Amino acid sequence: MEAGNRMKENELRSLLNDLSLEEKIGQLVQLSGEFFKADDISIGPQQKLGITQRIVDLTGSILNVAGAKVTMDIQKRQMEKQPHHIPVLFMSDVIYGYKTIYPIPLGLGATWNPELIKKAFNTAANEAAAAGNHVTFAPMVDVAHDARWGRVLESPGEDPFLNASFAKNMVEGLQEDLVTGEGQIACVKHFAAYGAVEAGREYNTVDMSQSNLFQNYLPPYKAALDAGAKIVMTALNSLNGVPVTANKEILVDLLRKKWGFDGVVISDYASIYELIKHGFASDELDASQKAFAATVDIDMKSSCYANNLEPLLKSGRISEEKINKATWRVLSIKNELGLFEDPFRGISVEKEKKRILSRGERLLARRVSEESIVMLKNKDNILPLNSSLKIALIGPYSDSQELLGMWAVHGNSKDTVSIKQGFEQYVEKENLLVAKGTDLIDDSKILREMNFLSEEQIEKIVSSESVRKSNEKKAIDVATKSDIVVMVLGEHTLESGEAGSKTNLHLSKNQRLLLKKISKLGKKIVLVVISGRPLVLTDVEPEVDAILEAWFPGTEGGNAIANIVFGKANPSGRLSMSFPYDEGQEPLYYNQLVTGRPINKSQHVGRYVSKYIDNPNAPLYPFGYGLSYSQIEYGEIVLEKNKIKLGEDLRVQIELFNNSAYDSLETVQVYLNDKVASVVQPEKKLIDFKKVHVNAKSRVTVDFTIKPNSLSFFNNNGERLIEKGAFTLLVGRNSVDLAEKNFEVF
Ligand code: BGC
Repeated sequence: MEAGNRMKENELRSLLNDLSLEEKIGQLVQLSGEFFKADDISIGPQQKLGITQRIVDLTGSILNVAGAKVTMDIQKRQMEKQPHHIPVLFMSDVIYGYKTIYPIPLGLGATWNPELIKKAFNTAANEAAAAGNHVTFAPMVDVAHDARWGRVLESPGEDPFLNASFAKNMVEGLQEDLVTGEGQIACVKHFAAYGAVEAGREYNTVDMSQSNLFQNYLPPYKAALDAGAKIVMTALNSLNGVPVTANKEILVDLLRKKWGFDGVVISDYASIYELIKHGFASDELDASQKAFAATVDIDMKSSCYANNLEPLLKSGRISEEKINKATWRVLSIKNELGLFEDPFRGISVEKEKKRILSRGERLLARRVSEESIVMLKNKDNILPLNSSLKIALIGPYSDSQELLGMWAVHGNSKDTVSIKQGFEQYVEKENLLVAKGTDLIDDSKILREMNFLSEEQIEKIVSSESVRKSNEKKAIDVATKSDIVVMVLGEHTLESGEAGSKTNLHLSKNQRLLLKKISKLGKKIVLVVISGRPLVLTDVEPEVDAILEAWFPGTEGGNAIANIVFGKANPSGRLSMSFPYDEGQEPLYYNQLVTGRPINKSQHVGRYVSKYIDNPNAPLYPFGYGLSYSQIEYGEIVLEKNKIKLGEDLRVQIELFNNSAYDSLETVQVYLNDKVASVVQPEKKLIDFKKVHVNAKSRVTVDFTIKPNSLSFFNNNGERLIEKGAFTLLVGRNSVDLAEKNFEVF
C-alpha cells in the first residue's frame, strides 16, 4: 500500500455523514478482547459491563488483542456487523516490545541512547504490526520522582529533558513505517503529570504549581506530540483538584488550544467511569458529559459513552457537532493507516512468524539490554570475570526466565534467555554451580494484598519452611565450593508496574539474610540486581564487591548480563533515576530547587540547613551515575565565549581521553544552573548529553551547541521566560562529578 492510497477528505466526510448516531457512538467506545473472542457471547462480558450487544457490534476499537490470525478473524466478523463495514482499530500495550521484549523503560532510560531506542521501538512496532496491532499505548513518558511508585518501571526516568529525548525517538521509531503498514501509531501517556502521584502511591492525586508542571512534567509529552504522536491517553490522577480525564484546563486549553493537538484523546482504562469515584461526577451520565466536554474522544472500557452519549445529545447537553468531531478524529486515524482500502494491511500469519523473535530482533534486544545495565560498584576491578573460575551462580533469578517485567503483555518468558543460559556460553559446565538459594518474596502478606492471586499461586512464590531450608543449604554448599559468587537478587515481577507501589524499597529480608550468610564465607561476591525501580542497596553494598543493576532486562537478558560480566561488552548504562540511600528521602531527584539554606554554602551552619538529621540528603547513587571498565578522563570545558547576547547560541567543547584497553561508550552530560531568576531554579538541570564512542587509547572531542531555550524556564502562568544574567555550565560523567564554567547572558 502506497502512502497516497487513502480516502480523500470529502470521501471520509461523506462516510461520516452517512453514519447513524449509534454507529458514531460505536467509534467512540473501546472494549477489550473478551467481548469478541468467545463464540457465544450472548451471556458474555457485555452484560457484566451493562452495555448492549449492538454497541459490541459497532465498537470502534479493541484493546490488547494480538496475533495475526485472531485479529484478522475479529476484523472480518466486526466489519460484517458494521453497516458501513468500518474496520476496527486494534490497540495494545506494546510498551517495551511485542514478543521480543526489550528492557523495561527505566532500563531504556539508563542507556542514555535515544537513537538506539528509536530502532528498538521501530522493530517492536514492526513485530506488533505484522501481528495485527495498529496502535500502541506507548511511549509512557511520565517524569518519575518517587521510587515507591511501581510505574517508574514504565518511564525512562526522572528528568524532563532526558524523557523528552526518549519520547521523541520512541514516537519516531514507532511511527516510522506507518506508510508501508509496518509501523504503529503512538499513544503518548499518561497525560499529564501522572508521575507525580503523591507519596508514590498508585492512583493517588497530584497537586503542583504551574511552573513545576510546565518545566518538569510537560516537556516529554510535548516532545512526543512534536514528533507526531497521533493519540494521547489521559491520566488516572486528578491534577490540582480536577481529574485529568475531565480537566478542561489540561485537555482543552493546553492540549487542544495552546498546543494545537487535533488527534485522538483516549481515556485510560475506565477513567471516565472513575470520575464518579473521584467525587467529580454524580453518575455515568454526568461523567460522560464532563469527559466529553474535555474532548475525550474514546472511552476505554467503561459503559459511560456506550450508554450515555445518546441521552446527552437528546437532552441537548452535548451537540451533534461535537460527536461528529470526535468520530471524525477516530475515522481519520483509520484512514491514515489505510484501513479503509485494506483492513488487513501489513498483517499476515507468515509475516508475523518471520518477524517475531527473529535473529535480528534478538541481537538488537541484546545490545539494548547491554547498554541498559548500570555498573554501580566494581571494587578492585573484580569485573569482568575470568570465565575459567569456578562460579557459584546463586539467587532466585539465577535460573529463571521471568526477566520480562510487568508490562510485557504479549511477551512470553519461555522465549527468554536466563542468566544461567547466558553464563553457559562462557563457563564450562563443571565450573558453573547454580542454586536458587531463596525466594524473591518471603512475606505472603504482600501477595495477598494484591487481591488477585489464589492461595495456590501464592504457595508457588513463597516456599514452605523445609524447602527454604534446603534451598539455602544448597546455596551455601555451592558458594563454599566456588572461587567466586555471583548473586542474582531482586524484586518479583508483581512488585513493580501498575498497582505496584511499595514503601519498603530494600531487597526482601530473606534475600538479604542469604547474602549475609554467603558473605561470611569470605568469597568475593558480584551482585546482579533485577528490579523495576531503584532499590535501597545501602545495607547490601558493603557486603559485595561489585553491583550490576540489570532491571528487568528482557528476552535477551541472560546473554546481555553474561556479556557484561565476562567483559565482551563494556558497561555503559547510566542511571536515569536516583538510587536512594533510604526510603525516607523519597521523592528524590537531582534537579531540586535551590533552597534558602543550602548545605555548607551559606552562613547557616550545623543544624539550620536543609537536611535530615538521621540520613544524608544525597542518594546512594546519583542520577547519571554508572561505571565502565574504562575510566574516561575529561579535559577542560571550552566555551566559545563567556558572554553571549540573549537569543544567541553558545558552543561548548570538551575532550575525552580513554587510557584503558577497552573501547568505551561514554555519556557526556551537560547541566545548567541559572544563578538568579524570577522563579527559583534547580541547583542544576540537564540541558544536553551525548553518548560517544571513545576507543581504547584514544581521544575524542565532543561538541555541544547550547540553544537559547535551554536557558529558559517557566513561570506560574505557564509562560516560557529567558532572563539575562549569570549562568554556570556543568559538564561531566554524572550529575555529581562535574566541572564548571561560568558565562553571562546580556
Ligand atoms: C493503564 C494504562 C494501559 C491501559 C490499557 C491501564 O490500566 O494505566 O497504562 O495502557 O490500562 O491496558
